[in-house]
Amino acid sequence: MGKVAIIGAGVAGSAAAIRFAQRGARVTLFEKSVFPREKVCGCCLGAAGLAALDAIGVGQSVRERGVPTKFFQGFFQSSSSKAASAAEMSASRRPVPGVCIGFREGVALSRAELDQHLLQLAVQSGVEVRQPCEATIVRESQEQVWIETGSGSPETFDLVVVSSGLTGRFRQRDAADLPWVETPHGPMGISAHMSERDAQQMGWQLDLGEIQMHCGAEGYVGIVRLPGGALDLAAAIHPRRKLASDTGGGRQAIQSQVLSLLLASGRFNSSQSQQLEHWFCEVADWQTTPPLRRKRVSGRGRIVAIGDAAGYVEPLTGEGMTWGIESGLAVADLWALYRMPQMTPNGGGDFGANWDLRALKFQTRRRQLCRWVTRMVRYRPVRWFACHGLRRADWLAVPFTRSLANGPRFDTTSPIHRTASSFADTSLRTHVSS
Ligand SMILES: Cc1cc2nc3c(=O)[nH]c(=O)nc-3n(C[C@H](O)[C@H](O)[C@H](O)COP(=O)(O)OP(=O)(O)OC[C@H]3O[C@@H](n4cnc5c(N)ncnc54)[C@H](O)[C@@H]3O)c2cc1C
Repeated sequence: MGKVAIIGAGVAGSAAAIRFAQRGARVTLFEKSVFPREKVCGCCLGAAGLAALDAIGVGQSVRERGVPTKFFQGFFQSSSSKAASAAEMSASRRPVPGVCIGFREGVALSRAELDQHLLQLAVQSGVEVRQPCEATIVRESQEQVWIETGSGSPETFDLVVVSSGLTGRFRQRDAADLPWVETPHGPMGISAHMSERDAQQMGWQLDLGEIQMHCGAEGYVGIVRLPGGALDLAAAIHPRRKLASDTGGGRQAIQSQVLSLLLASGRFNSSQSQQLEHWFCEVADWQTTPPLRRKRVSGRGRIVAIGDAAGYVEPLTGEGMTWGIESGLAVADLWALYRMPQMTPNGGGDFGANWDLRALKFQTRRRQLCRWVTRMVRYRPVRWFACHGLRRADWLAVPFTRSLANGPRFDTTSPIHRTASSFADTSLRTHVSS
């Protein structure tokens, strides 16, 4: 299986590292941050993501650390308000009725804990972890890729898997690139944790298994209870043009958009609204992301990208981690096929190009659904329909919840030959099968 480098130990990188190690590769995983670290995320891992983790034998230990999630409680806002302050807004609003949609059980778990846990499991699987260590691709040939880490001379690898997320830099300016197909644009992500004490003081309680969603014209915010009782608030917001360009005001502007979204649901009385406003401005430790929507060529030669580094849509369907984990497993399986001795010579075809096609094949449909749903939810009539229609006929949401729960199947035990059909390049597929 050769020497494989993985850049970034988020969920995608660690899951890939475990699968590569299980397939017999010598794996080095580079992570620039010191763990545990938080990152912008809604912290909900769905059933499909858990099933993919089961395939590498770690799903159960993740379930044991998290709290189960079983249903969405959605508040779809279909009227607008010009209120200036939190108190005015809470006074001017009648509560938006909630829509309850069940789905196959997932878990909620802070990213600090999940990513740290997966990294430990990678170490137990025989992966060499270098942390904190920022890795950069400096050169590439047909057979090898050179990586520099700032200490010593560059090291060579047979394959480099880029799982550096939305913000990671992974190559030197003149090194081979994976060009953008769609440059980053669209909404920005923002999140913070509210301690159990603050949530109790505010009287903000979530039911067991609930993921609360507040959707409006400018974006949406999701809230979930984490193990230990804290709440995770994560939002994707289309910044208002004039406010986002204010010097240094971008983040505050987005914060106030998130606050308005929550208050517009009319579910907070005036004292709660003022406490919430205080928490937003004075207490919360916000983290933000660059624009979320993007897509790049997922592979070329010996460099491939997985997870957010390859592309992302928006968090509304809550599948980002699942996509990352699935792509990590799939790329390891494809590499195992590619390295089979009967492949001539050493695989022959362009591995990266094959990965690009494979990644397209198994994620496009769900990403298109996510894109379509997020676009629709921005329209007021659609939110009105979601609010009133889904309350009467929740079965209308079944195609959506089914898509969340169903991912590709990764077999733990079957020989790698069975996945030969997944090879995108027909000549390689025929070769392996024969
Ligand atoms: C607001 C919001 C809410 C979300 N909610 C959910 C949700 O509820 N459920 C869900 O499944 N998904 C959710 N997502 C999406 C999810 O957060 C991402 O899809 C997921 O984290 C992608 O994982 P990753 O491993 O690709 O990248 P990341 O988790 O970002 O990990 C990348 C890692 O690479 C490291 N790195 C970067 N560059 C280098 C380098 N050069 N060298 C070494 N290390 C490097 C970084 O330090 C980081 O640790 C949400 C996203 C947003 C913005």
